Amino acid sequence: MTQSGRAGCMRIGVLALQGDFALHARVLEQCGVAAVEVRKPVELDEVDGLIMPGGESTTLLKLMDAWNFVPALEKFHSAGKPIFGTCAGLIILAREVESPKQFSLGLIDVTVERNAYGRQRESFEASGTVRLDTGPIQLEMVFIRAPRIRRVGPGVEVLAEHGGEPVMARQDRVLVATFHPELTDSTAVHRAFCDLVERSKTAS
Ligand code: GLN
Repeated sequence: MTQSGRAGCMRIGVLALQGDFALHARVLEQCGVAAVEVRKPVELDEVDGLIMPGGESTTLLKLMDAWNFVPALEKFHSAGKPIFGTCAGLIILAREVESPKQFSLGLIDVTVERNAYGRQRESFEASGTVRLDTGPIQLEMVFIRAPRIRRVGPGVEVLAEHGGEPVMARQDRVLVATFHPELTDSTAVHRAFCDLVERSKTAS
């Protein structure tokens, strides 16, 4: 489907409780997709996929709890709707979180360690290859107090590495990245997520 054709039929939500949700919404609009800022669980009914942005996962968890987002997100995932988590969003989606241990949704079978790059390299940029369905592309990756993916379960496909470690992965309809694709000029990762949402919508 053409990008302009997408706009009429697909809506992607961006969890807008905390973090850099506005930038994700802007990139989605650049991809020709209607972006919806989601602040209440009921708003999930209006969207075909969801981006969970970076921010601070402990704060995000408190806000999610206050608005009772956990059961709503579990239902959203069970309904087969795709979710893309970046950085703090990935931490919330992981099966297991370390450093320190904290609650997570367990929607992708990975273990992540929070703030795992140490002080000197808390935030940095790197270039790497991302293996998208449309083929491999070279991407700038921005890491901000990023987690490290320490374990990947058998059902998880690694799509990109940095320093020999996974930094982007997918399990069925859950896509995660430890870096921030919304902070670079490329829209490729968001377009790949839009394609995943489009395929899921057609399949349902
Ligand atoms: N360090 C943050 C956390 O542990 C994540 C950072 C980010 O999302 N850029 O929640």
